[in-house]
Amino acid sequence: MSSRLRILVPVKRVIDYAIKPRINKAQTGIETKGVKFSINPFCDIALEESIRIREKTPEAVESIHAVSIGPLKAQDILRVALAKGADTSTLVETKEEEIVEPLQVAKLLQKVVEKKNSNLVVLGKQAIDDDSNQTGQMLAGLLNWPQATNASKVEVEGDEVYVTREIDGGGEVLKAKLPMVITVDLRLNEPRYASLQNIMKAKKKPLEKIKPQDLGVDQIDSRLEILKVEEPPARHAGVRVENVDQLVAKLKELKVI
Ligand code: AMP
Repeated sequence: MSSRLRILVPVKRVIDYAIKPRINKAQTGIETKGVKFSINPFCDIALEESIRIREKTPEAVESIHAVSIGPLKAQDILRVALAKGADTSTLVETKEEEIVEPLQVAKLLQKVVEKKNSNLVVLGKQAIDDDSNQTGQMLAGLLNWPQATNASKVEVEGDEVYVTREIDGGGEVLKAKLPMVITVDLRLNEPRYASLQNIMKAKKKPLEKIKPQDLGVDQIDSRLEILKVEEPPARHAGVRVENVDQLVAKLKELKVI
């Protein structure tokens, strides 16, 4: 029996990928004041893929719901998601200064999956701020659903999903039955831009704001403590050599060969 897809796309608000991050004075993290934030690029790819699945097989998709866990300002990226093609959205609002670790995100997402009766969750393979690459895997574990990570191709056939993953030396094709969790890789697709008309229309689409408590999660516990964040060591200027002999001599001098 084939079930229609109720797709959940978790999207994270992160510092825009084009911005060179600066470390704050206290060396506890990245300076966020006056910095542009955007939708995490991998989440954008996850959203794009969900929209393409609907464009390819409209009858197969019942709904696309975007969810973000973050401060009130994360509404902005949900509006972008709605403008691009999500039908509805939820903001699980956390405190501005609160760092929500992947396990906590996964636990909150599990509740959203239950609430929305989702049967396919498409996430980014990683968030470019913490580079954790953990949330999708943990969510699949909590839900006890099959997972396919780092997808470079996704094909839905009824209640079966074929996912190609990029692995060393080739592609691996996995097949799983719904419900399932997919995390997406960079080469899966190129996300569209939202048109001005759709940005205007998205203002009328549903954006529900709830708190973690509304999902039965009273406290966001951290298991990790960030001790220090440092700039990478400055790179020294390079030296130009004229030929291979000089290159070999230089490398010997530097004792790297
Ligand atoms: P990470 O495990 O932190 O590298 O994140 C992987 C993916 O999990 C992201 O691309 C998002 O799809 C999802 N995710 C992580 N954090 C959040 C968040 N705060 N809100 C919504 N989705 C998130």
